[in-house]
Amino acid sequence: MDTGERYDCIVIGGGPAGATAGTVLAQHGRRVAVLERDAFPRHHIGESLMPYTWFTFERLGVLDWFEQAACPKKYSVQFVSTTGKVSQPFYFFETIEHPCSTTWQVLRSDFDRMLLDNARAKGAEVRQGATVRELLMEGDRAVGVRVQGADGGSETFRADAVIDASGRDTFLASKLGWKRRDPDLTKISIFTYYRGAKRDPGLDEGATTVAYIPEKGWFWYIPLPDDVVSVGVVAEADYLYRDTRDPEAIFAREAADCIWIADHLSTGTRIEPVRVTGEFSYRAEAIGGDGFCLAGDAFSFLDPVFSTGVFMALKSGEMAADAVHRGLDAGGVTAETFVEYERDMRWALDQFRQLVLSFYNQTFSFRDFIRAHPDLHPRLVDALVGNVFADLGPLFDALREFSARTSQPEVAQPAGARP
Ligand SMILES: Cc1cc2nc3c(=O)[nH]c(=O)nc-3n(C[C@H](O)[C@H](O)[C@H](O)COP(=O)(O)OP(=O)(O)OC[C@H]3O[C@@H](n4cnc5c(N)ncnc54)[C@H](O)[C@@H]3O)c2cc1C
Repeated sequence: MDTGERYDCIVIGGGPAGATAGTVLAQHGRRVAVLERDAFPRHHIGESLMPYTWFTFERLGVLDWFEQAACPKKYSVQFVSTTGKVSQPFYFFETIEHPCSTTWQVLRSDFDRMLLDNARAKGAEVRQGATVRELLMEGDRAVGVRVQGADGGSETFRADAVIDASGRDTFLASKLGWKRRDPDLTKISIFTYYRGAKRDPGLDEGATTVAYIPEKGWFWYIPLPDDVVSVGVVAEADYLYRDTRDPEAIFAREAADCIWIADHLSTGTRIEPVRVTGEFSYRAEAIGGDGFCLAGDAFSFLDPVFSTGVFMALKSGEMAADAVHRGLDAGGVTAETFVEYERDMRWALDQFRQLVLSFYNQTFSFRDFIRAHPDLHPRLVDALVGNVFADLGPLFDALREFSARTSQPEVAQPAGARP
């Protein structure tokens, strides 16, 4: 059935990227529909925010929500070596004098619902239980989508533009054959949730902790509301699956072997099943075409060690919506509409990717790097907070040079053995 309705833009997916794009287009006065497959609230991984998400939250008008939802405040990130030694935390307020220096840890089911409700409140039409099955084309131009409703019925929506924000489902990038896996970042993750696990005192209570394991891997430990922590391990599949494929057994083995994690979980009780996410990092070979573009994880996913995912989803939701708005004003949304957006996304992702590669370099240590380049400490914090559109060229030049200089053929100890 053709709904007969015509929209300025259809957004596929109501996660952070889609909800942001929907809100921003509605704020621009555009007629926009956000089509989401799932009924919210639903579970989603990715709870630790970056400070620079603050600016998108301000634009969306949702900054009040974090206090109301009692989200733990995140002032820092800290790193723990394989011997259990905790680094000096990177406190964001040490280099940023702005409210954004405090960010939050969020329960994604509540956070994503809040963002989608906000899109609706700001004027976007939101449909849940609406699975987009097909991008409708006239020649090379996208003109709408075909949707399957929760009752199995099919509807078509016509629009001048379509933004694909379908997350790691990569609806369009998969259909178009655009998805390229990152050969240097091929980890998987195994994760779960505990209640009653230990929290560090004072300012560090809400910190994200990254605890290294041998063999180029790490645990995240993220305090959430209601005394819950999100905890997961990221490493090569071969390493994690070396003696069993049972996620529970793997999680238990790795948690027991990681001194800091074992200690922090010792007072807690596991409250959720152990889940697995594979196929970590990828990017689409293009960001859009005539009448359509990709946003958030639908365009690219990067290993989550620096909690970049939600930031990039929010930022790309904004940038995609602004580009569509400009294109509509200019008389039509074409591939040309997305040139600047694509350039900025690739720049930001390349910067973060360089940071991630340094992290995984066997012989790299942030502490040694900062000792060698104390002047670059503020730039490193810029990268960790998401100020990625700043000129971080000198930082990344130095990181590349330092990594190359410290690289050795093969070493017994991973980077994390040296905090
Ligand atoms: C193990 C792991 C740990 C992570 N940790 C962090 C972290 O600590 N901090 C952080 O910032 N990020 C983290 N991330 C990344 C973060 O989860 C994502 O980057 C973020 O959720 C991307 O948002 P999105 O809106 O692009 O996609 P999503 O949040 O996945 O939203 C996509 C939405 O599209 C819907 N959808 C899909 N297909 C269709 C369709 N055909 N029709 C209609 N709807 C559809 C889905 O139901 C979903 O709701 C982590 C990711 C992983 C895998």
